[in-house]
Amino acid sequence: MNELFEEEKLVCTHFNEKYERFYGAIVPPIFENTLFTFPTLKELFDGQAAESENYVYTRGTNPTVEILETKLAELEHGESCKLFSSGMAAISSAMTSFLSKGDHILFVNNIYGPAIQYAAYMEKFGVEYSIVTELTAESILNNIKENTKIIYMESPGTMTFKLLDIQIAVDAAKQKNIITMIDNTWATPLFQKPLDMGVDISIHSCTKYIGGHSDVIAGAVITNKKLMESIFKNEYMLHGGCIGPFEGWLLLRGLRTLPIRMEKHQESALKVAQYLKDHPKVNKVNYPGLKSHPDYELGKKQLKGFSGLMSFELKNESYEAVEKAANSCKLFKIGASWGGYESLITSPNHGNNEDDLKKNGMNPGLIRISVGLEGADNIIADLEQALAKID
Ligand SMILES: *Cc1c(COP(=O)(O)O)cnc(C)c1O
Repeated sequence: MNELFEEEKLVCTHFNEKYERFYGAIVPPIFENTLFTFPTLKELFDGQAAESENYVYTRGTNPTVEILETKLAELEHGESCKLFSSGMAAISSAMTSFLSKGDHILFVNNIYGPAIQYAAYMEKFGVEYSIVTELTAESILNNIKENTKIIYMESPGTMTFKLLDIQIAVDAAKQKNIITMIDNTWATPLFQKPLDMGVDISIHSCTKYIGGHSDVIAGAVITNKKLMESIFKNEYMLHGGCIGPFEGWLLLRGLRTLPIRMEKHQESALKVAQYLKDHPKVNKVNYPGLKSHPDYELGKKQLKGFSGLMSFELKNESYEAVEKAANSCKLFKIGASWGGYESLITSPNHGNNEDDLKKNGMNPGLIRISVGLEGADNIIADLEQALAKID
């Protein structure tokens, strides 16, 4: 796997740093300024007329942030990238860019909850949505409506980690002139290149692996120049969800080590998944990196690697067992989010929503873990002692 990353390691480290611009500084300065001045009024107005290509105002462009944007675009083979103040700012801006009253969004696979909640919020503007979790070409085509404008997908799906054959969704959309978007957060720009598969827009919560240290909230949209032009002019500039220069600088720092962190997340996650698969109290492990996983072959086709987030199902499906397992962990911290250096544990089972879970194809004994960088042996030892405490 390591060899696949050689080119990308150079993007994460030196690409577009242009050290000479900043006195040869090895780390670019944080341009913590809101505006840029011009010698004449005419030059200011010319700058404003093409704001995406000029430094005018930090709600639009900023030199520190721009270095990061060019690196992410390069990593995903996109023409353009914009950084947002959060993953949700990126998602909501990308969605609204293509929606008008009466339009429909089709969500394909198990999708990050707030993305669906945003579509539900958009109902008051006359937008509708539906979800399809049966991932065949037939089923996707059958769920496309006259007014479908966006196919929004995630692969692997949230919580269940089922893979979607992205090509199938892209082909279905192309037949009907529908925009395709993917939440590519799980795979990172290293493990999956959706634009190469014909997806129009790739979205990341940079809060997760790209930041990698649980200290910055941010999001990214990567797409072609034409689509970005409209997103920049409208949703980026007008909703105002721009990233701050300091947050951009933190992400640049995170990105430098993304390849080596992902190598380690993958290596440890595979060991943890194998350990859990053989555990007598575990029914099933949802991790497409396991050879025994039904999506393993599809994964080999469209992923270059497997990150550290997975779920598993306890044989004992009671909430008490889920709670006991999580609360018994010592190394694993209990918390939302994922993709940082630290191992985290949570569950969609809140003790009062078992019927909802089953309706959404989730087992009540489901536990989600983010495998961190503490070392596979330490992580497995913690799970071992926690699982010993449940019936
Ligand atoms: C966290 C997350 C988001 C939202 O990102 P924020 O930075 O928290 O706004 C979107 N998609 C996925 C898959 C996520 O895990």
